[in-house]
Amino acid sequence: MVKDWQLVVGLEVHAQLLTRSKIFCGCPTTFGAEPNTHVCPICLAMPGVLPALNRQVVEFAVRTGLALGCAIQEKSVFARKNYFYPDLPKGYQVSQYELPICLGGGVDFTLDGAERRVRLTRIHMEEDAGKSLHGVAADGSSGVDLNRAGVPLLEIVSEPDIRSVDEAVEYLKALRTVLMYLGVNDGNLEEGSFRCDANVSVMPVGSTVLGTRCELKNMNSFRFLRQAIEYEVRRQVEILEGGGKVVQETRLFDPQRGETRSMRSKEEAHDYRYFPEPDLPPVRVPASWIEEVRRRLPELPRARAARYQRELGLSAYDAAVLTAELGTAELFDAAVSARAGGAEAAKRIANLINGEVARIANEVVVAPAAGKLTPAALAGVARLAEAGTIGGPGVRQVIEQLFRDGGDPDAVVAARGLAQVSDGSAVEAAVDAVIAASPGEVERYRAGNQKLLGFLVGQVMKAMKGKGNPVVVNAVLKRKLEEGGA
Ligand SMILES: [Zn+2]
Repeated sequence: MVKDWQLVVGLEVHAQLLTRSKIFCGCPTTFGAEPNTHVCPICLAMPGVLPALNRQVVEFAVRTGLALGCAIQEKSVFARKNYFYPDLPKGYQVSQYELPICLGGGVDFTLDGAERRVRLTRIHMEEDAGKSLHGVAADGSSGVDLNRAGVPLLEIVSEPDIRSVDEAVEYLKALRTVLMYLGVNDGNLEEGSFRCDANVSVMPVGSTVLGTRCELKNMNSFRFLRQAIEYEVRRQVEILEGGGKVVQETRLFDPQRGETRSMRSKEEAHDYRYFPEPDLPPVRVPASWIEEVRRRLPELPRARAARYQRELGLSAYDAAVLTAELGTAELFDAAVSARAGGAEAAKRIANLINGEVARIANEVVVAPAAGKLTPAALAGVARLAEAGTIGGPGVRQVIEQLFRDGGDPDAVVAARGLAQVSDGSAVEAAVDAVIAASPGEVERYRAGNQKLLGFLVGQVMKAMKGKGNPVVVNAVLKRKLEEGGA
């Protein structure tokens, strides 16, 4: 039944900005402090206090807007969004409404090899609310933590351009990567510094009239986002096929049960009684400042991936994996310049990062660049592998140790005896012994059963305790077999 229906999604991302202080006061923004220790009269909403806008917030908004191709507005206005909630002591949130700082733009990404673009409606600046904590006190009562009140956010609103769950996830990943490259957001979904609400509706396939949408909240992982949208599509289709109507509302995703449930009926904008914030003048961003921010934009992930393909001959896949995290891309670039070996060496380093380094990083659940492996050490491993000093198993062990403990690859190879034996006479002795011990296999190989070469190589490697250089072993073995057979 779902196949007769087209999914339509628009996403609203709230990204916490990496400023040191809050948006309208000097309180710190660090996560995880004791409740209500990062507060002052301004963010506690004491009567008579006045907000003062943090300039860094505006700069981060402009930087983000430029990176996403938005039109930066030279004049934007803060507005009060009025609503009551225990974690909002002012009774309103300072946000932007009619005149946001960025309009338009879009997020580009690749999905199944095809280029996609999801357009943005707008980006605006706002303050975060506090956090209600339930059942924290000894008597089971609730409390409010206002450390987060006044922490600066960007709200990034997409057009309803998304047509599948995969597209929603790829859009979010691409947006998150860009924000992290820009240094404006840490991309942490679990701590809530990158969170997303989804507006989900369905319409009959072929229709252009959007259905009634529901807003989904509380999806703090890509997996939950996927589950929540999939559940919501089934729910809405079931209602529509049963002759019912979807009610516009806000729904909360319950990760335990894998379903969404009604939280509150959806407010319309007029319910919030928006009006311009009288305590803050309009935000003016002179064109000269916009140009200055533009000049300082870093190389963005897609441009970097394109450069890796163009200049270093990496595959689209390798380039995409390397650029997904800024730290990984920086590790790669630094190792490539330390090795200075051209495209061949770059490819080897890419394979090391996307292979052994990613494997060990994955095991301890950190990013590839989070270990103690330095670019110089990584370049050293690439050099040792290229020279045939260490083979596959040696590379694995060296990378593991360098990732965990740091150090110098040559020293690790020497200390742990990981060097391969490439010495001709040592290999010849092992080959001779194996040929002598396996007369049956040798005879069949010489009679034309080429597959037995693999078996014989394995025997030689075993005799050499895995340290034989496979290239040398292969060459010596083949020569001896052919000599003897002639
Ligand atoms: Zn404060």
